[in-house]
Parts: sequence; C-alpha cells; structure tokens
Amino acid sequence: MHPPTYFPSTMPAPDPKDPHDREFWAHIAQSQLVVQRCTRCSHMQHPPLAICESCQGGELHWKTLDGTGTIFTFTVVHHPPSPELTAYVPYVIALIELDGTDRCRMVGNVSPRDARPRIGDRVAVRWEHAVTGPVLPRFELTPTHTSGSGGA
Ligand SMILES: [Zn+2]
Repeated sequence: MHPPTYFPSTMPAPDPKDPHDREFWAHIAQSQLVVQRCTRCSHMQHPPLAICESCQGGELHWKTLDGTGTIFTFTVVHHPPSPELTAYVPYVIALIELDGTDRCRMVGNVSPRDARPRIGDRVAVRWEHAVTGPVLPRFELTPTHTSGSGGA
C-alpha cells in the first residue's frame, strides 16, 4: 500500500512569517523553484534573506530554476517522528545542490519514499499537488549512472 502523497494531507502546511519566505512559497505555489539573486553582484542564495549575504546589497530578485540538482547529502528516516507518519516511513530527507546556482542547497524529500539514493545522485523537482493542502516540491531520482568505471 502506497499512500498517495509523500506525507499525509493533514500535515501542517508551510506558514512563513518572514516576507521573503512568503515570496518564496508564493513561487512554490506556482510550481516555480526559485532562489534569490543579487542585482548588484549576481550572488545567488537560499534560503531567502532580506539582503545579499555576499555584498549586503538590498536589491534581490527571484531566479527561476529548472529544478534539477545533485544530492549533496541525505538521511533516511525510519522511525516516524509522529504517529501520523507511521505509514510513511521510511522516507528520505536530502540536501540538494541546485543546478544553475552558486551551489545553493535546498532541503527536500527524495521521491519515491523508499528510494535509497547515494551522494551525487541526480534529481529533478516533481510537484506534488495534493487534493487539499499546498503545492510542494519533491525531488525525484533521475536515471544516471554515476558508479562504475567512469565511462568514456
Ligand atoms: Zn550581492
């Protein structure tokens, strides 16, 4: 039996208080994966901040990404942190290094839940549109062959 969504639809939705976080989640609601980019120095950053962490400039805009990336690190959760997640373990939490950025990394869940990824595996965003609740990004393993003799 596979639950239809990554987590139960009763899970609390993101409720950002910070205005920059709210803008980020507004893009997510439109199925757009974004990071901030500084107008002055072109530095890209995530999570969103009020100013550029590189030059402290205050003019940031949103850069839309294609949603692909590489697993920087991950963990597999076997013990449900709450009773509602009993049917949903094991699942994977990963730090994804996003393509097209200055090595920006984003925390996300790797799909499918029972995936056993490796560091360096490639992923692509897959938008989960639950019947109720918010649009959420998951990262699906994409077929690559990074092991073995290195090719060529
Ligand atoms: Zn800057």
